[in-house]
Amino acid sequence: MKKVLVTGCAGFIGSSLTEVLLARGYHVTGIDCFTDNYAHWMKQKNILSFVHHPRFRFIRSDLQSIDLNVLLQDIHYIFHEAALPGVRSSWGKNFSLYVHHNIACVQKLLEAIKESPVEKMVYASSSSVYGSMDGPTDETRLPAPYSPYGVSKLAGEYLCRLYHHNFGVPVVSLRYFTVYGPKQRPDMAFHRFIRNIWKGKPIKLYGDGRQTRDFTYIQDAVTANLLAAEKGRPGEIYNIGGSSKIELIQVIQLLESIMNRKAKVSFEPVQPGDPKHTWADISKARSELGYLPSFPIEKGLQQQVSHLIEMLEEDKR
Ligand code: NAD
Repeated sequence: MKKVLVTGCAGFIGSSLTEVLLARGYHVTGIDCFTDNYAHWMKQKNILSFVHHPRFRFIRSDLQSIDLNVLLQDIHYIFHEAALPGVRSSWGKNFSLYVHHNIACVQKLLEAIKESPVEKMVYASSSSVYGSMDGPTDETRLPAPYSPYGVSKLAGEYLCRLYHHNFGVPVVSLRYFTVYGPKQRPDMAFHRFIRNIWKGKPIKLYGDGRQTRDFTYIQDAVTANLLAAEKGRPGEIYNIGGSSKIELIQVIQLLESIMNRKAKVSFEPVQPGDPKHTWADISKARSELGYLPSFPIEKGLQQQVSHLIEMLEEDKR
């Protein structure tokens, strides 16, 4: 069975992907340095289900601090999930951290892959490279990020492209559109909404709530990674959306009905870097990878609500 490396294995997407890879029989090496973007205990919890798995090896380290040339000698696929996510925190002096985690680490990996037998690297890019979108947006649209975070993810993508063109490094980029579901990061909207509705606290909604996002359920994002490793054409970029484009205010209404509780919404000014709309055209991923999102928003939200409430209840005990 193939050996794979998951960077950012203690994060939301990396840990969900690792679980599925192990279930499918892969040998997984996971790297994570536990950045401070949210509580370490949450990341510890994310890896709890597999950290002692016989086919899993955990390396707690920053990618910049390890000898990748040795590590990659017997790795077939790399899933590069490690990064500093989050649009709002990427302004100001924080940007140097984004340069380190989101750009310099990608370059280090690509250099190491040049000298290795790695068959494919899947790079976690983001819809934030586009900026705001007025309609379904495909991969040919000129990127125009709205935030320093978006710029850092685009720089990582361009590095992937240029290492592919110059050295044949086999890398595929996936532009995820807002991923949600169990283990979602605590700074992300659905997590905050569910937590505050459950605790009876006000929800901060930035803007008028009419902004839309194309939400992608975590299992669909995980499936997209497996498909990209197997079928993605090196050097290519694929949009990964969920076909669940919906206004944030409608999400709150859905949550009220799922949770059977009323939300207290506090409308706040639009935040710098937040696009008004995101909307994925996933035709390319559908035709080349066979990617088909399978979770409607109602079902995905239900899963996230159950998971988060269980966690909040555990915390009380
Ligand atoms: P996350 O913060 O939950 O996970 C990222 C993990 O990477 C963290 O556990 C962190 O400790 C680790 N990490 C960061 N820098 C590292 C380094 N230098 N060395 C080792 N480990 C490091 O974030 P997430 O939401 O799971 O996002 C995963 C990836 O997907 C990121 O690349 C992000 O930019 C991208 N992405 C996420 C979304 C989304 O909706 N969650 C959307 C678009 C793109």
